[in-house]
Formats: sequence, structure tokens, C-alpha cells
Amino acid sequence: MSATFRRQYFPAATARDWANWQWQLLHAFRTREQLAGVLKLTTDEEAAFTRSDRPFPVSITPHYLSRMRLDDPQDPLRLTMVPRVQEHQVGPGELWDPLGEEPHSPVPRIVHTYPDKVLFLATDFCATYCRYCTRARVVGSGKLTAPNSIWEEALCYIAQHAEIRDVLVTGGDPLTLADARLDWLLARLRAIPHVQILRIGTKLPAVLPQRITPSLVHMLRRHAPLWLSIHFTHPNELSPEVARGCIRLADAGIPMVSQTVLLKGVNDSTAVLKDLFEKLLTLRVTPYYLHQCDPIVGSSHFRTPVATGQQIIRDLHGRTTGFAIPSLMIDAPGGGGKVPVGPNYIAGRDGADLLLKNYADKTYRYHDPV
Ligand SMILES: *Cc1c(COP(=O)(O)O)cnc(C)c1O
Repeated sequence: MSATFRRQYFPAATARDWANWQWQLLHAFRTREQLAGVLKLTTDEEAAFTRSDRPFPVSITPHYLSRMRLDDPQDPLRLTMVPRVQEHQVGPGELWDPLGEEPHSPVPRIVHTYPDKVLFLATDFCATYCRYCTRARVVGSGKLTAPNSIWEEALCYIAQHAEIRDVLVTGGDPLTLADARLDWLLARLRAIPHVQILRIGTKLPAVLPQRITPSLVHMLRRHAPLWLSIHFTHPNELSPEVARGCIRLADAGIPMVSQTVLLKGVNDSTAVLKDLFEKLLTLRVTPYYLHQCDPIVGSSHFRTPVATGQQIIRDLHGRTTGFAIPSLMIDAPGGGGKVPVGPNYIAGRDGADLLLKNYADKTYRYHDPV
């Protein structure tokens, strides 16, 4: 699949070029003209490119584009990456900072919402820009690209707050940083005695699997315990290259969890998500969170009713491996943190008995005197 795509659209590129992550980034599709050379853009897509009032960049790696059915405007991966004019419509309740991260940022690059864990926004750069990005206000803006010195204030904040035991390095996509810079940052975080665990939030294993080089993996494992939290959306992402990257990480002992955003027309069905979560388990990635799509400005065409996610979780419960089922979460607007909103299996109470609904919707009693 990727070789056919390469020969057709990059006839001068070798298989070795294609396998090089910097080549992939250099040849990412960023403009209307570049995309129109591969896809027949719809009127909604064309219209999105002529607007200038939502300066959120477009970028799609050749690898990711090669995973799309090029003649299908409803291709699920295409819907997440190619802008549509709907993203210029501001729906009710939509905000540029839906999670209230700005007021919870004590120093630049740190978001401190929970008592014991923080986000460290290492870069604003991503290989691909998801159209529903919750951090579209900064991501791709160039606002967070800076030399290591600008990280010092954030590192200092973490060092001075002994209650912080968990640092989630995110952005932007931290795996777009060069090995040496990321190594430097992780080593500095590791040197803070109260930081127990590190996490990296990334989509590169899905959109730029070429980045998962032996040297990157070797560097990451030196900073254990370090978890990767990988953004996966749809089973069509799971190419042989993606599988190889995950297997390489798993073989190095790097624990991986997945986060998926529930998206209308993309992955809002039990069959699609069951397939995704079960395949992720074969790659030793544990499904962690299924997120209700945050109310970022211009995202109403992606949002499903909360009941859709609850029904999907209900459908999965009892019908697949327990740990193939992520928790359904809403990130509370205004900095309230994530709230689990999965379906409720307690049907009520009868005296000293709790009434429980099982996966097949049968009721069972559990003696639980109050
Ligand atoms: C999601 C998030 C975390 C991490 O939360 P977990 O539930 O532990 O994965 C930490 N800080 C902020 C601000 C977050 O949004």
C-alpha cells in the first residue's frame, strides 16, 4: 500500500527515504495545492482552505495519507485531518481553551490542574494536526518553540513542588523533538527526586511510525519508569509500520496506553472501536481513555451525544477482554479535570440488596447492608 503510494506520488523517493522520519516530515502535505494533487477536494474542504479566520495549520505525513482511501471523501482518517468549512462555525459552548488550561498555568508550559500531576508542554509542533485538537490555540502556532533555556522555569516549578509525582510531557508532540533534546528534558525531569513517573503524550506511533527508531527506543528506556500515551483513532491507522513501532517499544519494556477521541462519522460505532481496541491489545497497547470530543471552537461536526459513548462501552462490556475497554471521559470545561461518565451498572437497591445489571442486561442481587 505505502510502496504503491510512494511510487505514484514520490517517484524519485526510495524505500529508504520513505522509512526516514525526517523525509516524512519534510514531505508532509500542508497546502491546498499539495493535497489537491492527491485527493479530489470536496467543496467543504476547498472552502476551508480559502478562509483565514482559524489559523490552525494543516499537516499530513505521506505515511498517514497513504492509509486513506483517496477517492472517498468520507474516509475516516481524512475526516480527522483535512479541514472542512464546518471548523469555522462556532457552536454553543465552544471555547478556544475548553479545558481552562490558561488559568491553571502557573508558569509558561506547565498546566497544573490536579494536585499531584502536571502537563509539560514541550513543543507546539505536530507531524499532523488533528482538526479537533483541544490545544488548537497554541499547537502549530510557533508559540512554544524555543531553546532549552525556556524550559528552565518549568523545570524549576516542578522541582519546587514536591507534591508533583507524575509529569506528562505533551504539546504538540514531544516525539517530534530530536533525540538529544528530548533526552536532555527527560534526564532533567528524572533528576527531580519526587517525580516518580514520566509520561509522553504522542500521536507519532500512529502517524509517523518511522520515528520509532532503535535509538529513540533505547533513549526512552533509559528514563524508565516512562509510559507512552498514544493517540489512536481508527483501525485503519494500524499499518505494518505502526505495528512494528509498537512491537519495538513493547519489546524494550516501554508500557503503552492509548487515548481515543470519539468522533462522529469517524469511529462512533461499537464495531470500529472494538476492532481498534482488540488490535491495539495485540500490539501490547492498553486502551486507556475514550474521550468525549472537547468543545474546541469549530468542532461541533465531530461531537457525538454523550449517550453514544456510553452505549459503545455498554456494548463492549462482557463481550471483549476487560482491559480492551477504556474509560469514557469528559474533560470538565474550566479546569475541573477528567470525569468518568461510563454507563452505570447499578440498577438500584431492594432493602439490603444492591441490584446489578450484568452485560446481558440481566439483574442480579448483591447483599450489601447499609
Ligand atoms: C489528562 C490530564 C492529566 C493526566 O490525567 P490522568 O487521568 O492521570 O491520565 C493531568 N493534567 C491535566 C491538566 C490533564 O488534562
